[in-house]
Amino acid sequence: MTSEQLYCFAMIQILLVFLLASFRLQAIEHNTKALPLLQWAIAAELLSWLFYFWPEQGVLLVLSMCLSAVNMSLLTAFCFKRAERAVPWLWILPIGLLLAGCYSYFSYHQQQNISLHLMTVFTFVLIGPCFWCFRYLKPHPTLSDFMMAAVFAAWLLICLLRSAMLFIAPDWLLSGLLLSQSFWPAISAGYCIFALTGYMEETQQRFKDEALHDPLTGLLNRRGLANAVHGCLAYLQRQRHTSALFMIDLDHFKQINDKLGHDGGDEVLITVAKVLQKALRQSDVLARYGGEEFIVFLPQTDRDSAQLAAERLLLAVRHMQWPALASPSALTISVGIAVFDADFDFDCQLRRADHALYQAKARGRDRIEFATDSI
Ligand code: GH3
Ligand code: MG
Ligand code: MG
Repeated sequence: MTSEQLYCFAMIQILLVFLLASFRLQAIEHNTKALPLLQWAIAAELLSWLFYFWPEQGVLLVLSMCLSAVNMSLLTAFCFKRAERAVPWLWILPIGLLLAGCYSYFSYHQQQNISLHLMTVFTFVLIGPCFWCFRYLKPHPTLSDFMMAAVFAAWLLICLLRSAMLFIAPDWLLSGLLLSQSFWPAISAGYCIFALTGYMEETQQRFKDEALHDPLTGLLNRRGLANAVHGCLAYLQRQRHTSALFMIDLDHFKQINDKLGHDGGDEVLITVAKVLQKALRQSDVLARYGGEEFIVFLPQTDRDSAQLAAERLLLAVRHMQWPALASPSALTISVGIAVFDADFDFDCQLRRADHALYQAKARGRDRIEFATDSI
């Protein structure tokens, strides 16, 4: 085997491993609509190197060049799909066909410098948009997506440099396959790895979001609340800023469930969550604490402001339009409030707010109560 053939063989092995890895990914990910395009792109590149293994065979060389064009076209389609854009097939297909035709014609006729220059032009037309998709278009980009964009940028740069070298020192560049092709292992492995880790990063993010949010209302859950206030509490304690914590419970929610059914009750909870969120400041943190209980953390809020905010919440819920319930005021909340400026132990303040809520329930509901100094 020549050193060129060994090189091809190594590329085939690398691509085969990534192709197999991509099938493992399909088994664990949920949002893999674009993945088949990547898999076909990897398969096309793998076959392209396989046919390149016998460069003296003209037909195989042409096939290899055509598959290289297929690889680039499918990769472009994959990038558009990952960026959640419509795949511009009417633009990709003619360019892919043109690339396959030109590339195989000039390679077959041993005009390697023309075919390499052409490759640079077509790379800009097909791989340029891939860079754009991952750098600017893809929503919620992860670090892997930036790396993906970097790989495409490197691909473009290498083609430019290769074309420049063709002008400056053509004999040196074309003296062997290894010199003109020496970057492809990094490029191929780069786009395969970061495409796959991009999916995995998205899954991690999704799991993290799910662990911190309540699935019904989309609000933070207990853990999400603790996470959100953790850093903020330390700052407020240092600055000795007064803050407030509300514990909110819907009144007679069992009866609402009985009237509307459990699904109807869920709808009420979703709407109440929206109404509360709308009535709060941006800096206030709203969370669903459990069942029909909500927590609000209001940083830098003194007793008077806390009272105003709680009254606003009471009013907002009272005025909710809920046709299935007997009267507009059939839905009310009770609020227990803890205001604090010295003891920033969150659990302790939650207990104080809970105790105040208990008082609000005991004193007739649809009202607010402040926690006393000790419980
Ligand atoms: P109170 O005024 O004393 O709070 O009366 P209540 O009926 O609201 O009593 P309590 O707070 O103890 O009852 C909570 C009810 O909320 C019990 C449960 O059926 C209902 N609930 C808890 N979680 C959910 C939920 O996710 N969806 C629905 N639909 N109902 C829930
Ligand atoms: Mg209740
Ligand atoms: Mg309750």
